[in-house]
Formats: sequence, structure tokens, C-alpha cells
Amino acid sequence: MNYILLGPPGAGKGTQAKKIVERFSVVHLSTGEMFREAKRSERIISELLTSGQLVPDALVIDMVKKYFVKDYMKKGFLLDGFPRTVRQAEKLNVILKSESIKIDAVFFIDICFEEAIKRIAGRRVCSCGASYHITALPPKEVGKCDVCGGRLVQRNDDREDTVRDRLSVYEKQTKPLVEYYSKAGLLIDIDGLKDESNVFEQISRKIKI
Ligand code: AMP
Repeated sequence: MNYILLGPPGAGKGTQAKKIVERFSVVHLSTGEMFREAKRSERIISELLTSGQLVPDALVIDMVKKYFVKDYMKKGFLLDGFPRTVRQAEKLNVILKSESIKIDAVFFIDICFEEAIKRIAGRRVCSCGASYHITALPPKEVGKCDVCGGRLVQRNDDREDTVRDRLSVYEKQTKPLVEYYSKAGLLIDIDGLKDESNVFEQISRKIKI
């Protein structure tokens, strides 16, 4: 099984990806995670992420293509945050074709912009990977991670003005992928406004193993 998660920032792609990987044991490829890691050492990536802009396609493809070699992805994968432009999707097709790999479906988790802003601006994360929301999913102790006791912080790109920029980047550069994958007969609409477990059920029902 090979799947793609598509949707605006705040749709819950990261949260759902964790659940899917746990239940179906597939390889999780999150370009956002990779770039957050890379931004520690690369200033240009740090600036792009902080301003909510996309990393250039060529750089993304270069980073991602090495994962598609030989057996690594063969037990199935979930792409989260990639592709993010039609150009990336076209490049991905070329890579997949050369490795004789097919995408089974693209889950489009949709939410409205108001909800995205509400969700992202309240998100707090810990360096251990745990994620909270100040009202919807607060930690037991304010500012402290339930899992490891670490300090919770707001991601730079989660500040409200940056979120608005990210949403407008999404609308212009990523939303065209909805039509792209719909035309390819791969798109499955998921109602992202429902709660986390309902969204997971909607997705799980469509996953074929
Ligand atoms: P995410 O965690 O998926 O929201 O990604 C965080 C940031 O990483 C995005 O706002 C972009 O700056 C960058 N990024 C992640 N994936 C991609 C991609 N496929 N193409 C371009 N930029 C990306």
C-alpha cells in the first residue's frame, strides 16, 4: 500500500500519519520533518520555513528521491507533505515509474481556513515529538510535556501571521494537486473537521492491505 496525505496546514496530516504508520506499519516520509531537521544547519531553509514559504522543488526532489531506491519503500509508504506542487507530483511520477511503484490513493483531508488558523495558532510541541493544543488538547501542566516533561514551544511557522502566509501558499501552490489527483482517479475526500479518531476511521476504511 502506497498513499499520499494531502491537505492544508492544520488539517492533521502529521497526527493521522502517526496513527496510520502505527496501525499499518508503512514507511512514513514527512518532508516537513526533514526540513525542520535540516533547518538547524542550513540558514536558507530556516528562513523559508520561518516565513511559511515552500522550499524550491529541485531541492525537495533531490532530498526525497534517495528514499525511493530499491527495497526501502517496498513494504509500503505514506507520503506526508509531499508532493506540494504539481511540478513535484510530476517528478514523483517519473521516480515511481522508474521503480515500478504505484500510488494506491491520495487522501485529501480538508478543513476551512478559520479552523486551520484556530488549530495551528494554539499548537504547542515538544522536542520529543509530542504535540498539544492549548485548549483542545492541553498538557496536564501548562507548558510542560506529559510524555517527557520537556518544555512546550510554539513552532516559528505556527505564529498567526505566518499561518496566514502558509495558507495562501497552500491555496496557490498545493491546492491544484486536488484537481491533479482527482483527474488521475486517485483522490479520496476526507472530512477533516471531524474529530481525530473519526478522521482516522474515514482513512482506515479506505486502506487496502
Ligand atoms: P509541514 O510540516 O509539512 O507543514 O512543512 C513545514 C514546512 O516545510 C513548509 O511550510 C515548507 O516550508 C517546508 N516543506 C515541507 N514539505 C515541502 C515540500 N514538499 N515542498 C516544499 N516545501 C516543503
